[in-house]
Amino acid sequence: MRTTYISKAAQQIKPSGIRKFFDLASTMEGVISLGVGEPDFVTAWNVREASILSLEQGYTSYTANAGLLSLRKEISAYLNKRFHLDYAPDDELIVTVGASQALDIAVRAILDPGEEVLIPEPCFVAYEALVSLAGGKAVHIHTNAERGFKASAADFEAVLTERTKAIILCTPSNPTGSVYTKKELEEIAAFAEQHDLIVIADEIYAELTYDEAYTSFAEIAGMKKRTILISGFSKGFAMTGWRLGYVAAPAYLRDPMLKIHQYSMMCAPSMAQFAAEEALKNGLEDVEKMKKSYRRRRNVFVDSLNEIGLDCHQPGGAFYAFPSVKKTGMSSEQFAEELLIAEKVAVVPGNVFGPSGEGYIRCSYASSLEQLQEALVRMKRFVQKTGAVQ
Ligand code: PLP
Repeated sequence: MRTTYISKAAQQIKPSGIRKFFDLASTMEGVISLGVGEPDFVTAWNVREASILSLEQGYTSYTANAGLLSLRKEISAYLNKRFHLDYAPDDELIVTVGASQALDIAVRAILDPGEEVLIPEPCFVAYEALVSLAGGKAVHIHTNAERGFKASAADFEAVLTERTKAIILCTPSNPTGSVYTKKELEEIAAFAEQHDLIVIADEIYAELTYDEAYTSFAEIAGMKKRTILISGFSKGFAMTGWRLGYVAAPAYLRDPMLKIHQYSMMCAPSMAQFAAEEALKNGLEDVEKMKKSYRRRRNVFVDSLNEIGLDCHQPGGAFYAFPSVKKTGMSSEQFAEELLIAEKVAVVPGNVFGPSGEGYIRCSYASSLEQLQEALVRMKRFVQKTGAVQ
């Protein structure tokens, strides 16, 4: 018998801190969960109907590896209309199983063993694991609330080595809701150009920005050639369960990703692809309505967090608030655990997204206003009991 059958790579990755925490919440009754990173809307009916129709009509076979050409055409037109991007349906797009798979094939296509990827943290929990499963090394960049949890070219420069291959940039960010401005992206673009780096731009929340016009990284002059754009339908279109995303990149980057996709996934589910096509053709008004609703909830929720003494910067996008719990003297984990036990409100401790998240909690405001208001009453009571805030 071997001592272990498990690969070193699989042994080394850590289970997601979010899941661990929610196992505890799921054993309790009456919990208000601000923990899950998904819309509280059900996918629009016309989108669901398009999928049902595809099944009724018997479309149950594999699609092209890269996805239905008709869907890729819609994605190409959408990216052009919404973000001024120009991707050819034939050879610059792949429809994937969620943005998650898009990220996986992106890092697997570009990394050789030991190559480094610069990742500002706190960040989405999958990045480090995917990079290390691809044989690479995640190099985290610390950020702070004072600078809106954003990294600058100087921060990247400080950790650059001859093994640095790529940057993963998430805007708007999970977990902080921060959105990079055009000027900030231009500085990072100049840095990527100077050091010949690939930028994996995770723009899954691009539809959900509330204050300023959104700039996609690939839109910055000269950047399309070194950008792998990751996006999908989960968040903006309220389609998490459909598992549908896409990756857009120039053909020299798309082709190796397609090879990996072809052998590991074959293609994304056909019924989800038909739904996504309908979402792009006739779903943008619904996206706008959901966005308005998130913006209203953000304003109420973030203002109230600040009022109850949990200092919170204004998140420009996504549906997360990332308030500080430092005044209470508790660690993120202790705060989240005790809040759950005492007041039955589930939030995610900020440290699961990286060391710069220590002292913060992530609260999703993709819940009804009533639920958010009740959660705030409970959180206020909890914070007052700590004696940190009157
Ligand atoms: N990227 C970020 C930043 C996310 O927050 C998530 C999901 O939470 C994903 C990617 C994965 O999205 P999908 O559901 O499309 O796989």
